[in-house]
Amino acid sequence: MPGTTNLPTLGRQSLPRQPNHQAAAYPQSYYAATRYEATERGSLTRPTEADVCVIGGGLAGLTTALELQRRGQETVLLEANRIGWGASGRNGGFVSAGYSEGLSAITAKSGLEDARALYRLSREGAAYVRQRVAAEPEAGIGLVEGRLSVLRIDGADRTKRMRDRMEKDFEHAMVYWPTDRVRAALQTKRYFQGLQDPEGFHIHPLNYALALAREAEQAGVAIYEATRALALEREGGRHVVRCAAGGYVTARELVFCTSGYEGHLFSPLTRAILPIATYMIASRTLSEDERQAISLPYAISDERRAGDYYRLYRDRLLWGGRITTRREEPKALGRLLKQDVSSVYPSLSRLQLAYAWSGLMGYALHKMPLIGPCGADAHGDGPPQDGLWMATGFGGHGLNTTAMAGELIASAIAEKDDRWKLFRPYPRQPVGGRLGQAAVQLTYWAMQLRDWLDERRTG
Ligand SMILES: Cc1cc2nc3c(=O)[nH]c(=O)nc-3n(C[C@H](O)[C@H](O)[C@H](O)COP(=O)(O)OP(=O)(O)OC[C@H]3O[C@@H](n4cnc5c(N)ncnc54)[C@H](O)[C@@H]3O)c2cc1C
Repeated sequence: MPGTTNLPTLGRQSLPRQPNHQAAAYPQSYYAATRYEATERGSLTRPTEADVCVIGGGLAGLTTALELQRRGQETVLLEANRIGWGASGRNGGFVSAGYSEGLSAITAKSGLEDARALYRLSREGAAYVRQRVAAEPEAGIGLVEGRLSVLRIDGADRTKRMRDRMEKDFEHAMVYWPTDRVRAALQTKRYFQGLQDPEGFHIHPLNYALALAREAEQAGVAIYEATRALALEREGGRHVVRCAAGGYVTARELVFCTSGYEGHLFSPLTRAILPIATYMIASRTLSEDERQAISLPYAISDERRAGDYYRLYRDRLLWGGRITTRREEPKALGRLLKQDVSSVYPSLSRLQLAYAWSGLMGYALHKMPLIGPCGADAHGDGPPQDGLWMATGFGGHGLNTTAMAGELIASAIAEKDDRWKLFRPYPRQPVGGRLGQAAVQLTYWAMQLRDWLDERRTG
């Protein structure tokens, strides 16, 4: 970061806002079409200053900014496009405890005691979302209770073992569903047993992000859309973030919440995050006949390594699935996912689609989020001397973990809370560029093949 001198700064609140010219529009998704407000926030075109500058206006950035401001830290949030434009406004909407990485791997690496503490944090993240949704009854977030994970390979014993382990090791009571109960609720022979998480729920994620943004602004956060952070400089011990629209922010600390859309802003993070795409569709209003297929309003997923995730939401079916390192959206995205739907529910083979879209998740190699200091002194014992923080890499389990990370980073900055240290066994590490991407894609194909063979062998 080259140094600069004599940059003039203005107070935060006195800034003029320009019309929003450069933001990419929301993708044509069910969520964008049903968002509860269309407020456009202007770009940052002048200098400003803050205690903390948060980069990225997804759920991680929004929660971090809200929680910082609540703790008395003057905060500016920069979003390159629109609030919730990234994965946060495009996802499946499932909210439940846990991480992208499985609990066995976390326990193997962190030990049982820390794995328990990590799990508790992830659970608090889900509880945080529930609380915020309750505080915003008019925001169209539409919380629906219920979360069920189903097996595509017969496995009563292993499902019961999993339930017992969750209760014994993680004090989380799950409910075992035998195959006949699953098949009474879901009209398909593809599924066997299930595990219900009574704490799980699902929401309208874009409306949640927009409500968080409004709450953050009411608390005093200055939010700029169409404001891509382009370059980082250092001046007199403070950070200077130069933005695409000509403005810049001078701040004591920076928090990177840029996930799979990071681009090339901060190379240690660019190298540490692998963007992985996943797809979603939304049906038109379901007919009475179609509604018979899924008589359960829960968030449902199967337990394959990259399985289907779907839910009835309001009067439609929202269905997601597949992962790939390819960033371009396939032309036949809708058709691909429709095939997935009818391979599980043949009675839905004539499903009419209204929307099909994709989104990028940010993954670290270890599949755990990157939370904590991220600059040159990231490996020191205390808070970073250079004031650089990250809250990113939430993978496909980000609705609860972004909330958790926002609280952790805000309390680390404002109150010297050091719970982020639980994430030290999961540091940022290079993902290996294009070679790394190719390796991940190969691993994914191998996993798909293994799932397919397993199902043929046992089914
Ligand atoms: C299709 C899909 C389905 C999913 N389903 C679920 C689910 O059901 N449950 C679940 O828990 N998780 C799910 N996930 C994962 C979850 O959505 C993500 O983990 C979470 O939203 C990540 O939030 P974030 O704030 O870290 O990133 P994002 O929401 O991607 O936000 C990053 C933001 O940073 C901005 N940005 C990037 N670079 C810059 C820059 N230089 N300057 C300014 N701004 C910048 C981007 O424009 C973007 O808005 C899903 C993800 C996808 C894509």
